[in-house]
Amino acid sequence: MIDVCNPRELRELLEKYDLAPKKGYGQNFLTQRNVPQRIAEMSRSFAPADKPAAVLEIGPGVGALTQFLSEYYDKVTSVEIDKGLIPLLAEVFADHDNITVVNEDFMNLDLPAFLDEQFGDILAAGGSVSICANLPYYITTPVLMRILESWPASKPVPLSGITVMVQLEVARRICAQPDAKDDYGALSAAIGLRADAEKLFDVSPGCFFPVPKVSSAVCGIVPHGGVRQVYPDAPADDDACDRFGMAAADVIGMAFGQRRKTLVNSLSARYPKEATAAALEEMGLRPDVRGEKLTTEQFCTLTGLLTK
Ligand code: SAM
Repeated sequence: MIDVCNPRELRELLEKYDLAPKKGYGQNFLTQRNVPQRIAEMSRSFAPADKPAAVLEIGPGVGALTQFLSEYYDKVTSVEIDKGLIPLLAEVFADHDNITVVNEDFMNLDLPAFLDEQFGDILAAGGSVSICANLPYYITTPVLMRILESWPASKPVPLSGITVMVQLEVARRICAQPDAKDDYGALSAAIGLRADAEKLFDVSPGCFFPVPKVSSAVCGIVPHGGVRQVYPDAPADDDACDRFGMAAADVIGMAFGQRRKTLVNSLSARYPKEATAAALEEMGLRPDVRGEKLTTEQFCTLTGLLTK
């Protein structure tokens, strides 16, 4: 089998298909075997060990991570936007019968329908589905939010885990708590509505071809029980709870839209200033508090008071 993590073999393979890494698609390929191996192993550790398990990979590139996912999972579907890589991947994985490569923009997928279509057999057998990716950095946030918001907020996101390599700074933001000053923001709080996140390990630029300018880190994002787990007072009715989840996400988005503004001002386009000030007072918070001081749970409480 071709060793896509061997820089010489990788160059030869790209030459054979007349390809070069495309900046526009964020193509920095992993060239140190131990890194994708560790990512795949950690990804699998979030799924029940004793049940069949499938994984959706976003952006296989030349297959550095895909090869290890196929060792740890029963079934792998990899979605790659770059048409040019499809014949290359077909050659690299000609002998792997548990890998399917789909030429598609991940952002265009109807995720719940796609997972049913790809992994219906695994799910019918009581198995689990995960997502794993060395994400193209230019769309990290939209990809993560699209995954988490593909299901209604009243229910747990039906994934065992989302294991992603992202730019180190973004990893810090994904996993930050309100006291982590500059790192905590809309992404941290919005992920908190659906999942718990932790930084697993750092990856240096030298592990990629071409070498990126930034460092990277791998995050494990594990869905929790949904918005009612964060905020037990969320509406008991599922539809109302879903609407509540959207309102909370909206409040979080507005709160960090202009970081320097106080919450009272940043929410004023949607909620009267007096109402926000009164809600903050009821929560025991100062009227000039900024969004960066509130936990996801406090954002839910605030939303509850504002939408009462
Ligand atoms: N997984 C490979 C690795 O670790 O070596 C490649 C990772 S590279 C950082 C990101 C990959 O995502 C590229 O192959 C790129 O073409 C692909 N990609 C970028 N945008 C995408 C999108 N919207 N949907 C699917 N794949 C995408």
